[in-house]
Amino acid sequence: AAAAVGSSVIPIVNKLQDIFAQLGSNSTVDLPQVAVVGSQSSGKSSVLEALVGRDFLPRGSDICTRRPLVLQLVHCPNKTEGQGDEWGEFLHLPGRRIYDFQEIKREIETETNREAGGNKGVSDKQIRLKIFSPNVLNITLVDLPGITKVPVGDQPTDIEARIRTMILSYIKHKTCIILAVSPANADLANSDALQMARVADPDGSRTIGVITKLDIMDRGTDARNFLLGNVIPLRLGYVGVVNRSQQDINMNRSIKDALAYEENFFRNQPVYHGLAHCCGVPQLAKKLNQILVQHIKAVLPGLKSRVSAQLTSVAKEAQLYGDVVVSKAGQGAKLLNILAKYCEAFSSLVDGKNEELSTA
Ligand code: GDP
Ligand code: MG
Repeated sequence: AAAAVGSSVIPIVNKLQDIFAQLGSNSTVDLPQVAVVGSQSSGKSSVLEALVGRDFLPRGSDICTRRPLVLQLVHCPNKTEGQGDEWGEFLHLPGRRIYDFQEIKREIETETNREAGGNKGVSDKQIRLKIFSPNVLNITLVDLPGITKVPVGDQPTDIEARIRTMILSYIKHKTCIILAVSPANADLANSDALQMARVADPDGSRTIGVITKLDIMDRGTDARNFLLGNVIPLRLGYVGVVNRSQQDINMNRSIKDALAYEENFFRNQPVYHGLAHCCGVPQLAKKLNQILVQHIKAVLPGLKSRVSAQLTSVAKEAQLYGDVVVSKAGQGAKLLNILAKYCEAFSSLVDGKNEELSTA
């Protein structure tokens, strides 16, 4: 299902994490958090959803995201009987697995209303949701309320300042990757997303520009110069996407259809030909991957030395206790061998020696 985040590196990282989990070791790979920033209705929730590959976030033309949603994707390889192998669990509903993603969406709305009221109020209290799936990488995504300027409903007069402070509290962390979302039908120079990203990440080392709504630009205009960084340069560059419109949402258009529509859109627009590397949700996923790889590359040396230390100690244990623990230790040694192999494979992948590594 989650086609978008599924490419190259992710299956390997998942495998590594599975092996670590089996070993009962806490030496997991710390992956950075990804947060979306931008003005209200710029398409932030839509982008996150497209990346996860499932429908479950409240989206719409009004203010929908009114509390930070911390979305922990948890890779789980094991199939559970009967009910399917993808589900959500809220921190505020411990022990309850929700298999119906529409129900997850309703629960986000209910829980938003409970804390922030029913009349457009905003709260900085997080909603924490874990999505368990065989199709995701262990990573944390944060959906944030968008920047608004004029208070509506029950919003306080200083709503803009409050939301900015809230956003900054997430994106100021050096491990946070910022997806700065700006709609293509507004001038990039007015982008709240890029303005805030620049405050938190002045040298642009962890900001990816995302341009949404390429499909509804003014006739005769296109986003080519945005995407090329000719308007506002960005070190990690931009990706342009086409997400579902409000009408698509009302008509329950699936993510799969939307991805096919997007692909077709770019194919039929000559102005974007030659810009394939920065067009489409799959390219955004790829870019995110590349940044994740850089991060993993940084933690890999420590990981490798831990693996070989564990290998040595398991081998010693097997010698000491002979038959009694030999099966358990043998199992451990086998796992560690696999792990070592994957670390090697990962290194060469990172070094660009082996682009398409099989995870079979
Ligand atoms: P957020 O407030 O930034 O989270 O924005 P949402 O993801 O809730 O989207 C706001 C509205 O814009 C929704 O009605 C979406 O259907 C619509 N939308 C988002 N991205 C696109 C896009 O690329 N094209 C079109 N036509 N509509 C979009
Ligand atoms: Mg939103």
